[in-house]
Order: sequence, then C-alpha cells, then structure tokens
Amino acid sequence: MEEKDEKLMEKIISLCKRRGFVYPGSEIYGGLAGTWDYGPLGVALKNNIKTLWWKKFVDSRIDMYGVDAAILMNSAVWKASGHVDTFTDPLVECTKCKKRFREDTLKEKGICDDCGGKTGEARQFNMMFATQIGAVEDSSATVYLRPETAQGMFVNFKNVVDSFHPKLPFGLAQIGKAFRNEITPRDFIFRVREIEQMEIEYFIREDGWEKYFEYWKNEMLAWMESMGLDMNKIHELEVKTEDLAHYSKRTIDFEFDFPFGLKELYGLAYRTDFDLKSHNLIYQDEETNTKIIPHVIEPSFGVDRTFLALMLSSYKEDISGEEVRPYLSFNPSVSPVICAVSPLLKNKPELRDYAHIIYRNLKDEFGRVMWDDNGNIGKRYRRQDEIGTPWCIVIDFDTLEDNSVTIRDRDTGKQERVKKEDIIEYIKDKMN
Ligand code: ATP
Repeated sequence: MEEKDEKLMEKIISLCKRRGFVYPGSEIYGGLAGTWDYGPLGVALKNNIKTLWWKKFVDSRIDMYGVDAAILMNSAVWKASGHVDTFTDPLVECTKCKKRFREDTLKEKGICDDCGGKTGEARQFNMMFATQIGAVEDSSATVYLRPETAQGMFVNFKNVVDSFHPKLPFGLAQIGKAFRNEITPRDFIFRVREIEQMEIEYFIREDGWEKYFEYWKNEMLAWMESMGLDMNKIHELEVKTEDLAHYSKRTIDFEFDFPFGLKELYGLAYRTDFDLKSHNLIYQDEETNTKIIPHVIEPSFGVDRTFLALMLSSYKEDISGEEVRPYLSFNPSVSPVICAVSPLLKNKPELRDYAHIIYRNLKDEFGRVMWDDNGNIGKRYRRQDEIGTPWCIVIDFDTLEDNSVTIRDRDTGKQERVKKEDIIEYIKDKMN
C-alpha cells in the first residue's frame, strides 16, 4: 500500500471511530476479530443505503418480491446448494510461527506474510459457522448460520409463486445478515465475519439470459452512480471460466479501487438453473404450457463494502492557508444527517428556544436532523463537515428581528439568509 493510501485508510478508520460511524466489535473486552459495530451515524448511513436499494430494486418495480428468510436454515439446504462440500477457502499454516492464512491472499506463494517462514500444504477450510440447535448435542442438531442470503430466496421460490403467481421474468430480493468464518478478516469492514448483503435472484427463461445479464450489469452501474460512488474507481472483472463458482456460467466482479488494492465490491452471476434444480423446484410456464426450471441472474451487493466505498469516494480535504478541512461530500440522500440546527450561542435562551422550534419542524419533515450547540460555530461547522452534513442552519440575533436564518453549504462554505418559513422548501429544492 502506498503511504498516501495507507494514510487515507487510517483517516477513515479514525473518523469512523471518533464521530460514531463504526466501532471495533466487543471493544471493551479486547475486541473480536472480523466484527465491527455500527454507531449512531453508521446505522443511519447503512439504513439509507438499504432503503435506497429497496426503493430502487423492489418498491419501484412491478416484477420484484421481497422476502426476509431466517438466518438459521435446515442443513439440508446447504447440502443441496453445494455449500457443505465446496464453500471453502484454501488455508495454509506457517511451519515456523504457526499463523494461518488464506493461501490466495499471501503476498508471495508459500511464504508467511508475517515471519517469512515456509507455509505448509493448503487444505480446504469450510467457511460456514456451524452451531447446535436444541438441547441435544449430536450431528443431527447441527445447523449453519447462512453464509449468503441467496438460498433464503430459492427455498421460498415455490411459496412466492403459489401466493402471487408471477410471470417470468420476475425476481426475489432480500437484505440481511450472512456469516463467513473468514480465515483472515482484514482491511476494516472490507472483509468481516458477520456481513450484510442485498441480493436479487432474477428468474428468467434460459433463452436470452445474455440480455438479462447485460440489463442487470447496467442496473448495478446505475445504482453505484446514483449513490455517489467514484465511478473512476469501479472496474469490471470478467471472472475466468476456471475461477467460476460451482453454480456459475458467467460472473462479473465489480471491483473498487480500495487503498489496499483493486478488490471485489459487488458480484453479478448467471447461476443457470443450478439452485432450483438442486432444491427440486419447478415452475409451470403458462406461456408454453410446460413445466420448466427457470434460470437465474444474481446481482449481489455487500452493504459493508458499499459503506466503505462510499466513505472512500466521499472523503475530501480542502486546504485554506494553514488549515486542512476534511469533509465527506455525501449526496443528501445517503448522508446520515441532512441538516444541523444551531443556536449561535448556547447560553442564550431566546436563541435556543427559537432554534428548538425550527429543529422540531425540520425533524418532523426530514428525520435526519441534528441539534448541535457544542463549541463555537467554527468547530460545529468542522464537525458537521466531517460527518458529511450538507447544510448547517444557524439562528442568531438577527433571526429574532427578521425571522431569517443562515444556511451554510458544506461543499462551498457559502452562506445564505433564508426566511424561517422557506427553510424546508429551500432544502427540498437543493436535494432535488
Ligand atoms: P471475496 O472474493 O472478496 O471473498 P466473494 O466472491 O466470496 O468475495 P460473494 O460470495 O460474491 O463474495 O458475496 C457477495 C457480496 O457480499 C460481495 O460482493 C461482497 O460485497 C460481500 N461480501 C462477501 N464476503 C464478505 C466479507 N467477508 N466481508 C464483507 N463483505 C463481504
């Protein structure tokens, strides 16, 4: 990693901790590798990502059905899907320091990243977390925490078809947690053991799958752009035939230029009829009056990686004189806070009372509104810039005379006076 990039990751991690976006998991007990907790602003950002995704891919479409399946599923699901046998990563152990690594992530094959010792033979390590269900501890009670949300949709395929009789093509969509016992969790929230995914299984007839693959590729690109991801950092990688997952006939990885390398952000796979066939599920095609097994295009999005890519795309620094001003240039639709309301002076009841009425009104309208009266006004602006708040609204002594407030823009630093009754329209206008 170049020094500049290493610094950027350090800055993002430190900002996330300091400002309440992401904390290390179980921190007061020394942490737990591969887990992170999202703080108040992190939850807000994550919720915005998920809400926008659901709006775009479910609510605004007529061919999509949402599900929310259980995380614990019958082990038979994972046997049929192939995960029990093949959801593995190659694990190697250093013969000298005994540290374990995922073989394909070693800087140099056969050499320990940590001590330079030789690594032993690779063995396949299954990444599913197993647990016991019920009080009896025997193998029949073993279940797995789902390692992907996809199977929760396949196993509900028949249920949804029976309830809604959708015509092909149509999709199932789900947002939820998945768990992977990653050998080497690393790079902040990039590779974690408890992840959140947003996935679609789009069912089609086999003929013409290429057309739908292309369609979903463009939908995914449009999504990334609408979120405000830096599109210069997005690259498409056509996965080579020999590297394809057992169920896939074609996969594209959308890679993002992370400071620690070009790595997978999202995946798009043509899963053929592998899954429905494995679960013995069929579909009565009214168009041809035959029973068929639909094929599947799967756009798959990680919430945590979206979060990190968004942070990296939005982090900016302005330099004015000696001072560096860091800010997050979030698009208002994702920013954890849309606007902050501040009385110019904390200890003046007449300013506070006035500001409180404005705060309440804005909160009712936008929800994501923050009250900020800590420190002097310059400090408040710095703090709001750092968390990506697009507008700061300040109530000063002139407000008491002319019923106007100052609205300061995060990106330009420009300030405008706006009449109290026009604030909501002003912000809505800017958001559009
Ligand atoms: P990788 O090659 O990086 O391990 P993968 O190919 O196993 O990823 P998929 O199985 O395609 O990933 O999972 C779909 C999406 O879920 C990924 O594109 C990514 O956004 C997210 N994801 C997968 N594994 C992790 C993880 N350990 N931590 C964070 N996000 C993850």
